[in-house]
Amino acid sequence: MKQKLLDTLNTKKIFKLVLGLGNKHFEEIEDLVTIYAIAGADMFDINPSKEAVEAVLRGVKKSGKNPEDFYYSISMGLSGDTHIQKCLINKDKCKNCGKCAKKCPQNAIVPDKDSYKVIQENCIGCQKCDDCKAISFTECEYDVERIVKIAKKYKLDCIEIHLSTKKIPDKEIKYVIENFKGALSLCLDRKFYSNERVKKLINKVTKWKGDTNFIIQADGVPMSGGDNTFNSTLQAVAMAHLVQPYGTYIFMSGGTNEKTSELAKMCSLRYNGISIGSYARKIVKDKNLTDAVAQAQRLIEVCRND
Ligand code: SF4
Ligand code: SF4
Repeated sequence: MKQKLLDTLNTKKIFKLVLGLGNKHFEEIEDLVTIYAIAGADMFDINPSKEAVEAVLRGVKKSGKNPEDFYYSISMGLSGDTHIQKCLINKDKCKNCGKCAKKCPQNAIVPDKDSYKVIQENCIGCQKCDDCKAISFTECEYDVERIVKIAKKYKLDCIEIHLSTKKIPDKEIKYVIENFKGALSLCLDRKFYSNERVKKLINKVTKWKGDTNFIIQADGVPMSGGDNTFNSTLQAVAMAHLVQPYGTYIFMSGGTNEKTSELAKMCSLRYNGISIGSYARKIVKDKNLTDAVAQAQRLIEVCRND
């Protein structure tokens, strides 16, 4: 039987592949999971839907590995968080230039007659396309009770709540603590969390839970990954640094890449895992399975190199 996630975090650093909270491109999820499962990833983090969970399980099956060899997390976004936003194009304002399509890392923007349209399932809300008057955003809705039900039904290991919002969502955090036996992860980004706010949040949750046995995902600049530079990963390491005195488990994310573990090592940082989305997806894009697995293996090796 699989060890509990938090027990594992006491003994090893975890590589978590982030498939995107808003990503409902289930074929892509399945393919990425197959690649990273073969390559030796430890954990997958996905959209909170049955379809996404089932796509992950199909991906693991295709890899030939045992589903028990991996940890699974679903992520929940709240109103105001970019992770739950979906791009829209106003056809009347669109000048058909195609610039937004070139910037989209998800191939979510495609030509449509004399204009462009967004494939909603593919959009992850990264806003890399957001410098045109024809573009706006709408939000998907998430419901904590439904998310806990899915996590229980599939015996998932973790629920992650994204806290990129002005107000700390006490009700949702308490609901997960009271109704879900698996691990709790709270995802914080630098834009919304000052040193004082981090302290306030962690003290609050520690009081509700009775311990610091929860994960803080230090999300430097959400969905900013793509470049393999120290600059890109700097805020993830800085955010983790801010969290480290409080005794919680720490994952780094938001701009993570092959430089993350090296920078963390230079800073003598305590952390328990690296979560990678944009960069991990980019390095395997449009590659055949053998080449994609080789790229993924190299990334995982570098991330575990401490
Ligand atoms: S939405 Fe804007 S950037 Fe995209 S094709 Fe239309 S005019 Fe160009
Ligand atoms: S660039 Fe980002 S926000 Fe824009 S359509 Fe693509 S995935 Fe969605």
